[in-house]
Amino acid sequence: MAGEKTAKGEVWTLAEVREGKLHSVSYELLAWGRTLADGLGVPLASVVLSGSESPPPESLFERGADRVYLTAAPELKNGLSDACAGVLSDMAEEYKPQILIASATTWGRSTMSILYAKRGCGLTADCTGLSIKDGALLQTRPAIGGNVMADIMTPDRRPQMCTVRPKSKGPLPPDSSRKGEVVRYSPRKSALASALTYLGFAPEARVGLPIQDAEVVVSGGKGMKGAKNFALLDELARLLGGSVGASRSAVDLGWAPHSSQVGLSGKSVTPRLYIACGISGAVQHLAGMSGADSVIAINTDPEAPIFGVADFGVVGSVLEILPRLIEDMKKGESR
Ligand SMILES: Cc1cc2nc3c(=O)[nH]c(=O)nc-3n(C[C@H](O)[C@H](O)[C@H](O)COP(=O)(O)OP(=O)(O)OC[C@H]3O[C@@H](n4cnc5c(N)ncnc54)[C@H](O)[C@@H]3O)c2cc1C
Repeated sequence: MAGEKTAKGEVWTLAEVREGKLHSVSYELLAWGRTLADGLGVPLASVVLSGSESPPPESLFERGADRVYLTAAPELKNGLSDACAGVLSDMAEEYKPQILIASATTWGRSTMSILYAKRGCGLTADCTGLSIKDGALLQTRPAIGGNVMADIMTPDRRPQMCTVRPKSKGPLPPDSSRKGEVVRYSPRKSALASALTYLGFAPEARVGLPIQDAEVVVSGGKGMKGAKNFALLDELARLLGGSVGASRSAVDLGWAPHSSQVGLSGKSVTPRLYIACGISGAVQHLAGMSGADSVIAINTDPEAPIFGVADFGVVGSVLEILPRLIEDMKKGESR
């Protein structure tokens, strides 16, 4: 019967709550989870851990969940990873899901790694593909600097656990006719214990949305020649209503924050428009932006690999082209 503690073998996704609201990665996970649950013929459930009041679960049903486990406790309000992992460990013991997937966000990664240590189950980080093979979870992720895709299975322990790279799959379209069952879970006091102290949340100063959510990403690489020239990218992004990204070289040089790094060891972005400025187009960079609808590249080297993935290419210096582009756009705006 639904929600009974005998409901073994479900596929679980770990919903992500930020400032009391469900974050969109929760729906991306459900899209992955739906495929896995259907492949196994088992229910798909989403686990919500939150402070005193849980966010409404309806949107999780609309995006594919059959069941939602709501766990609310004041100790979970700030998402301290050890408390969340303590509760999840108890829940996994009680309900015995066969698969648990979380998002490879900072919270998802830190919570799942503590859970992994508690339960001794396998954990594959930062997957970009998931499927079922011989009744077990097949986890695919880039390896060896993105040059190979590794298939990993952890079939011996339950749950099989992984984190999934945000934006590696879009959410299912909402279906308001889908309904599901809510199971309220009361955590043990001792499971909620935390060795961490929440100091506060300091949002980063940046232009526009986080790059993963932006419709336009203007990215700079080593060809930008210095941190001060990133002001050109800020200005262009502002004019286009977009956000600023960067290559790893630019981040390593301290020209842009790590949170703006696009690529294998940074973030995956899926904007409508990606503008690569002074970026060569190394395979590790392309791994993070190949989901863009359209790509414009500006580079002095006509042989730069970035032109191989660009819809429009401009051969020339960013230091000449960007100021002209910005000026033209401003003129267009004032007209
Ligand atoms: C395990 C691993 C993970 C990695 N992860 C990432 C990652 O997540 N993201 C990432 O980006 N990289 C990553 N890298 C690094 C990657 O291999 C490249 O070194 C990096 O992407 C290069 O950055 P870049 O294009 O800015 O610099 P470069 O490769 O040095 O290219 C600079 C480009 O600027 C052009 N240029 C120079 N002057 C101008 C000018 N005035 N105007 C226009 N163009 C100009 C040049 O022609 C050149 O094409 C990773 C590497 C490894 C080994």
